[in-house]
Amino acid sequence: MPIEVKPRIVVLYGSQKGQAQSIAEGIAEEAEGHGLLAELSCLDQKDKYNLEKEKSPVVFIVSTTGDGEPPDNALQFVKQIKKKAHTSDHYKHLHYALLALGDTNYENFCNCGKTIERRLQELGAQKFYATGYADDGTGLEVVVDPWLEGLWKAVKAALTKMASDRSFKEDSGQTISDSSIPDVQLNLLSLTNHQPPDLDPKFASTGSHVSSPFVEGVILTTPPAEIQNADPGISNAPSLSQSVPPLSDLSLNVPSLPPPFLDVSLQEGDTVDELFGPLNSETLNEVPVSRAVCLTTGESVKTAILIELDVTAYPMLTYQPGDSFDVFCPNRGSEVNQLLRRLGLEDQKNHHVQVSLLENTKKKGAQVPSFIPQNISLLYLLTWCLEIRSVPKKAFLRALAEHTADSGQRRRLQELCSKQGSADYNRFVRESSVSILELLDAFPSCSPPFSIFIEHLPKLQPRPYSAASSRLQHPGKLNFVFSVVEFPPCSGRPVGRRGLCTGWLFDLVAPLLVHPGKAESQCHVAAPRIHVSLRPNCSFRHPPDTSVPLVMVGPGTGVAPFIGFLQQREKERQRNPDAVFGETWLFFGCRYRDRDYLFREALEGFVSSGTLDHLKVCFSRDNRREEEDVVSGGPPRYVQHNLLLYSHKIINILLKHSGCLYVCGDAKNMAKDVNDTLMEMIKSELQADQLEAMKRLAGLREEKRYLKDIWG
Ligand code: FAD
Repeated sequence: MPIEVKPRIVVLYGSQKGQAQSIAEGIAEEAEGHGLLAELSCLDQKDKYNLEKEKSPVVFIVSTTGDGEPPDNALQFVKQIKKKAHTSDHYKHLHYALLALGDTNYENFCNCGKTIERRLQELGAQKFYATGYADDGTGLEVVVDPWLEGLWKAVKAALTKMASDRSFKEDSGQTISDSSIPDVQLNLLSLTNHQPPDLDPKFASTGSHVSSPFVEGVILTTPPAEIQNADPGISNAPSLSQSVPPLSDLSLNVPSLPPPFLDVSLQEGDTVDELFGPLNSETLNEVPVSRAVCLTTGESVKTAILIELDVTAYPMLTYQPGDSFDVFCPNRGSEVNQLLRRLGLEDQKNHHVQVSLLENTKKKGAQVPSFIPQNISLLYLLTWCLEIRSVPKKAFLRALAEHTADSGQRRRLQELCSKQGSADYNRFVRESSVSILELLDAFPSCSPPFSIFIEHLPKLQPRPYSAASSRLQHPGKLNFVFSVVEFPPCSGRPVGRRGLCTGWLFDLVAPLLVHPGKAESQCHVAAPRIHVSLRPNCSFRHPPDTSVPLVMVGPGTGVAPFIGFLQQREKERQRNPDAVFGETWLFFGCRYRDRDYLFREALEGFVSSGTLDHLKVCFSRDNRREEEDVVSGGPPRYVQHNLLLYSHKIINILLKHSGCLYVCGDAKNMAKDVNDTLMEMIKSELQADQLEAMKRLAGLREEKRYLKDIWG
């Protein structure tokens, strides 16, 4: 007698910012509609899945972060799967599909997904569906949506094949080791007969309708009358809140409504708003700011500020140059108050927030977010726990549409989360970094319950900064430098704003800020304090052997760790005058020589003292020409142009003299351009082809002689 049980699939995700997780959750939720039972786990929940024995189809959704690294919650899994000890049939029993998320603006596109895929293949796993590589640079949905559309058909085919393989084995007398595999045959029959709900014929005719992720969604065939009869005098340009034909005339496929899963209540009573809870108290330090210096001047540059922290009394903050540390910043008070007002919860801001799982929720794997502490007030929750500036995802827009009274506004929210409105979502929401507050302003009739904010807003993350000092040179001090992020006005944001943490730091240190050319006066304001915790970096460190030659590439604030390296080196040279010190090169770049050449005096001082042998600086917006122009025929604008000018020497240092190359700063453009340039340099210096150059660069990485600390 076959067991009456639905066929199961396993959905595993590795996610840094929640995108891969929400796609995985979406798959798990939809599985039921396809007659399947989905088991959803994060890759770091090792007790919840067992790939060594898994006989059901496994779907991986993994993102990539930083310099092509796995997300934090996939690190251990990747380490484990890369183990050389595994044999080539280790995962022979495994049937998988994989969706990799990445961004082609960064180096090593989808590296984590590619690594997992390569290892699964090497270890004998069988792919039942073509791997998707989605690019956040052009819009994830371009790949994600069709990949999801085809997934269910592929899962069904895989289940059928696996079931027939199994019965073949049974018929031929082969034993099946895992007796827990349910008999899926009967259920498969019903699964194959599972009819998707009716679809708009327009989409059905494309043939892409089967198992669409949108099948559960509302299909609107006619836009509301207000839109149809729009005043012809109104501007025809689309904006965050306004759509124009053809989108406004289209039938829409919207994603299924995310099932609510939290029960949130506000109650009068005592709250314990202990900053970040007891868990963090061991690593978190509230340290005073002892100095703040503006390092830039004039127009058209990003304001850069150096902050000196007094860490004398904080042994937990014993750092090495190259380390970075987290700064915990609150959401802006004015925005928290605005949100409270908008939700009509101003009077309850000191109420105690109680969050529990909604009984009978349909959300798979629903959990109360782990970053919501017990016994906190609403004010604290909005100030320290939720990233209220985060760009709302489509699922959030879908949920908001459900609470929007005005039909025109509701239709626009539906458009923005629909398949047809993807370009508008990218333009007016994602690329403009619109926050939930800005969105609510643009849609005044939207009145959502508070619970959906906790369901959809991610954790407020601390921001990391690189140490820009050495304790040898500055005992008891920890310096860092940041550039103030500016978000310009756009549709949905009438007034520009600053980045959350950099804007907050900027305001915090304003009373003690020293400007270029102005003498430092005795400051009488009380030192502001900030919460920080160390993130030791075991690889981006100065080599222990001082004779190793160094090439450092750090434009803009990317120069920060190298100031620490050079300070340390200077001290070590003073202490050990007879020691051997390898050659040092620093490539720095900024816009203008006299506006944003950060640490100019200090860098020139390192050159005078012999600590830095070669300082190569370029200015992207200055007209002045450098000595090198004569050789190159044009001024080097960016660090990679300067690297090219010294190609022969740099490649010699790296490949013949076992030198180390460090790159720090912008991950989006600079690190990728530098990497491409290094490839070109190796190719021309060694007369090598692309493959050989790639291998050389990979070799440097493996030997930890090509190190990066990059962000974007
Ligand atoms: P947020 O409010 O978080 O906004 C920044 C986000 O908005 C980014 O995703 C960016 O892509 C996007 N964005 C920026 N400008 C715009 C715009 N005009 N329109 C739309 N979107 C935009 N930063 C430093 O300055 N110095 C350092 O030494 C440093 N070290 C770091 C070390 C590490 C290991 C890492 C991971 C990051 C480091 N950063 C450093 C970056 C830093 O952590 C913050 O990300 C940065 O300061 C911005 O924080 P914010 O809260 O002000 O900006």
